[in-house]
Amino acid sequence: MTGSVTGSDERGGELLRLEQVDVAYAGVPAVRDVSLAVARGEVLAVLGPSGCGKSTLLRALAGLEPLTGGRIVFDGADLAGVPTHKRGFALMFQDGQLFGHLSVARNVGYPLRLRRRPRVEVAARVDELLGIVGLAGYGDRSPATLSGGERQRVALARALAVAPRLLLLDEPLSALDATLRESLAADLREILRAAGTTAVMVTHDHDEAFAVADTMAVMFDGQVVQHGPIADLWAHPATPPTATFLGYAGVRTGEAAEVLCRAAGVGPTRWIALRRSALHVDDVGPLGGRVLAVTSTPEQLRLQVELDEVGVVDAVAPLGRPLAVGASVRLSVDATRMATAPEPTG
Ligand code: ADP
Repeated sequence: MTGSVTGSDERGGELLRLEQVDVAYAGVPAVRDVSLAVARGEVLAVLGPSGCGKSTLLRALAGLEPLTGGRIVFDGADLAGVPTHKRGFALMFQDGQLFGHLSVARNVGYPLRLRRRPRVEVAARVDELLGIVGLAGYGDRSPATLSGGERQRVALARALAVAPRLLLLDEPLSALDATLRESLAADLREILRAAGTTAVMVTHDHDEAFAVADTMAVMFDGQVVQHGPIADLWAHPATPPTATFLGYAGVRTGEAAEVLCRAAGVGPTRWIALRRSALHVDDVGPLGGRVLAVTSTPEQLRLQVELDEVGVVDAVAPLGRPLAVGASVRLSVDATRMATAPEPTG
């Protein structure tokens, strides 16, 4: 892009801002004091457990739930008093919510027909959108004949039909099985990037968030506990519960954390979180211990090892390695499979 120099028009400049947003149901707070900013073209994932208030936040963005405090500013304008249909946002849900009695093409073209766009333009745009989501030639099919993944692609095409100013995604991949979820997540990321779409996606699935988004806000109990680029949150979760929610298997503190940080070659922190495969058998590794249990998986051996000064940890070893309960082993730490507290100690 050239020639765009001023503030909010600049790609990457701030497009959406939430300032101390509160939402309550009959006086019971569901979203509390949430402040977030989203840049033009950015995909933000709001990640949190069920009931933490993510859908409520999304509904507030869409204008479907009134704020009880704070404000939402979009492209420099306060959204208070702007009804849902005037916001120019699109919503996509977990189950796509396609119209079962309409063909794929008519589903995708629906928002365009609502806006009374000429028939020829609608047909051309529908073809273009079906191509973008990898469903060229599916226009005449009925939604009932599609797989779950294909239905979500149709829902995405429909959501993108009118080039929404903001796309709101509510657990868009959660209803799909694991393999489909992974491939559609990668496609979703590509499609949103290619279209330059700014999006807020809520999900309880950290893999979904990592696969699709640029930035992430972790929400617990109505509040955002951490917000930033995904890699930063991954490497330095705000708190041990955040680390656990991000899929880290165990958190160590005190002396155990010190020993593990030293072994990983990183500075000391208050705590360290390890993925299940963070420690691996390595004859010249810095940590020494004794095997307590061994299980085989198709890819690797999974061990439980009692480490001096640390206690019992999970570790992995290549298949075929002769390791029996009671054997002495040495372990290394893979620094890409661990996280440390945001603030270093000392
Ligand atoms: P999430 O999307 O993270 O699962 P929700 O935003 O759906 O969480 O819900 C947050 C809290 O608000 C929960 O305690 C839920 O029970 C409550 N809640 C959600 N919708 C309503 C509603 N329409 N009326 C009353 N309480 C609600």
